[in-house]
Amino acid sequence: MPALRSRRTLVIAATAALLTTVATGPATAATPTPKTPVATGFGGAVASIDADATAIGTQVLREGGNAVDAAVAVAAALGVTDPFSAGVGGGGFFVYYDAKTGRVHTLDGRETAPKSADANLFVENGQPLPFNDAVTSGLSVGVPGTPATWSEALRKWGTRSLAKSLKPAENLARKGFVVDPTFQTQIANNAARFAAFPSTRSLYLPNGAPPAPGTVFRNPDLAATYAQLERGGVDALYKGPIGADIAKTVQNPPKDPASTLNVRPGKLTARDIAGYRAIERTPTHAEYRGLDVYGMPAPSSGGLTVGEALNILENYDLKHASKADYLQYFLESTRFAFADRNRWIGDPAVIDVPAKELLSQRFADTRACLISKDKAATSPVAPADPRHPTPCAAGTTGAPTPYEGENTTHLTVADKWGNVVAYTLTIEQEGGSGIVVPGRGFLLNNELTDFSFTPVTPGVPDPNLPGPGKRPRSSMAPTIVLKDGRPFFATGSPGGASIITTVLQVLTGRIDRGLSLEDAIAAPRASQRNSAQAQVEQEFLNLPETAVLKARGQGFSTAPAEIGAATGVERLRDGRWLAAAEPVRRGIGSAQVVWPARW
Ligand code: GLU
Repeated sequence: MPALRSRRTLVIAATAALLTTVATGPATAATPTPKTPVATGFGGAVASIDADATAIGTQVLREGGNAVDAAVAVAAALGVTDPFSAGVGGGGFFVYYDAKTGRVHTLDGRETAPKSADANLFVENGQPLPFNDAVTSGLSVGVPGTPATWSEALRKWGTRSLAKSLKPAENLARKGFVVDPTFQTQIANNAARFAAFPSTRSLYLPNGAPPAPGTVFRNPDLAATYAQLERGGVDALYKGPIGADIAKTVQNPPKDPASTLNVRPGKLTARDIAGYRAIERTPTHAEYRGLDVYGMPAPSSGGLTVGEALNILENYDLKHASKADYLQYFLESTRFAFADRNRWIGDPAVIDVPAKELLSQRFADTRACLISKDKAATSPVAPADPRHPTPCAAGTTGAPTPYEGENTTHLTVADKWGNVVAYTLTIEQEGGSGIVVPGRGFLLNNELTDFSFTPVTPGVPDPNLPGPGKRPRSSMAPTIVLKDGRPFFATGSPGGASIITTVLQVLTGRIDRGLSLEDAIAAPRASQRNSAQAQVEQEFLNLPETAVLKARGQGFSTAPAEIGAATGVERLRDGRWLAAAEPVRRGIGSAQVVWPARW
C-alpha cells in the first residue's frame, strides 16, 4: 500500500492550470483540491479517502438526498478516482441506521464463487496455487456484488433513483480528474501485470507508463458503463451485456499473447452472474460500556470478531488503565478473537456459524480468563467452542490467520434526518485481478483469494474453503455505535484482516480512552491476529509503552505499509456532525459537512 494517497480534483482545475500555463509560459501541472480530514457543522456529513467523491456526496445531501443516496453517489465516484480499491467489478458491506425506525440494517454485497467451484478451486497438482498466481487470474474473480448493493440500498432506503445517483460519477469519469502521486504509485506498483492485459494497459499505462501527477485522467468506457446502468438498471450487468462481457473476460482473460504471465482462466458464467443477490442481513450487536455497537455479520468476520473482542475487553477498566495495560488488553483480545474467527466463521449459507454464541458475554468471559495483564499468550492460541463455553479452556490446536489483500475503501455518511451509513467496499488486492473488462473501464476483483486455499490447520475443519456459489470470508467491519438508541458515531477502514483491529482500536480509543474521533483515527496502529508478532506501524514502535509490552512478551514486526485508512462521522453533543478522515495515511482523506460550523 503506498504511503501517499492524496487525491485529485476536477478537470476544471486542470483547465485553469492549462490556461495558467499559456499565460505564464512554463508548464505548471494542475494541483489536486486541498483536502481537509476533519469538518464540523450541520445538515449532514461525508468522510471518504477522496476529495471528489466526498464533494459529490455532500452535494447530494445539499440537494436534499439522504445518507443512502449520498453513500451510493460517493461509492460510484470512488469507482472512478479510487479504482484500484473499489468499483463496479467488486463487492462490499453496507450498514445503515434508519433514523425513523431507530433500526440498523445491513446489506451483504460480497462477491460469490461460480456454481462450478469446489474446495479445490485453488489447488493444482495437489498443491495450493502460489498466492500471486491466483491473484492475477480469472479463477479468483467472484460475481461482483457492488452494483446490486447500490440498487438494493436505494430501493429499500434511498430517495433517489440509481440513474440519478450514478450521474455525478459518470460525469467525473467522462470529464476527468487530476492525477495525484498515489494514483500514479498504485499503477506503478502493478505495472508488470497491468501491462499484460491490453485493456488494462491502454487505460492505466498510456504511452507505456502511469499517467503523471497533475495530468487529467479520463475513463470514457467507465462513463459509458455507468450510463448503461443508469438506463437499464443493474440488469444491464446481471442479466445483460456487461455481465456477458465479464463472463467472457473471466473465461478467456484478454492477455497479450506476448506476455509470459501464466493467467489461469475462471469458470464464471453469465448464469452465475444472473443468479447474484445482495442479501439483507441482521446486523451483529454487542453491548459495550452501555453503548450498542452494530456491525456486519457473516460472511464478514468483521462484526463478530470486533464484537467478541469488545466483550472480552468489557472485563477490564480500560478508561483508568495505564496506556501499557490498555494496549496489552487490546492486543490480547484480538489474539483470542482471531483464533475463534478462523475456526468458526464462513459463509452462513454453507457453514453453521455460531454467531449468537460468539457474541455471548459468557463466551467472551471464558476467553478473558486466559488473558494476563503481565504476560502475552503464545500464538497461535487455539480456538474455543462458543457453543460449549468452558472457563479458561486453552484448547490444543491453534489456527493462524491467513493472508488477505490489503486494499479497499471505507466511506461514512450522515444526513440531516440523522440517518447514518457506514460502507466498506473493495476489489480485494490493490488493482484486483489486474484485468479491466475490455471496453467497460473497470477492473475485476480477485475476491475469491479471500478463501483458504487449503485448510489452514491440517485436521481442523476450515469454514472458509471455496465452494459452489459460496462467499469468501471477509474482514470488512463497517460499524455504527448508538447511544440511547441514537447515533453516537460510525466508522470503518480498509486493510484486509487488520480492518478488525483498526476498527477495534478506533472504538476503544473513542469510547474508553477519551480520544476525539479524529485522534482515534490517527493513533499509531498495532494489529495482533494470533501470530507470534503483532504487525505494527513504526510510530507504534516509537511509543514509550512498547518497551513495557515487550517485557511482557509481546512481539512486534513492522508492517510493510501503513495500517488502515479509517473514516467516521460523529454526532456531537451540540447537534453538529463531525466528519473525520485519515489525517496522514494514504495521503489523507477528505471530510465535509453540508453547513460548516466551527466554534
Ligand atoms: N478482501 C478483504 C476483505 O474482504 C478486503 C481487502 C482490504 O481491506 O484491503 O476483508
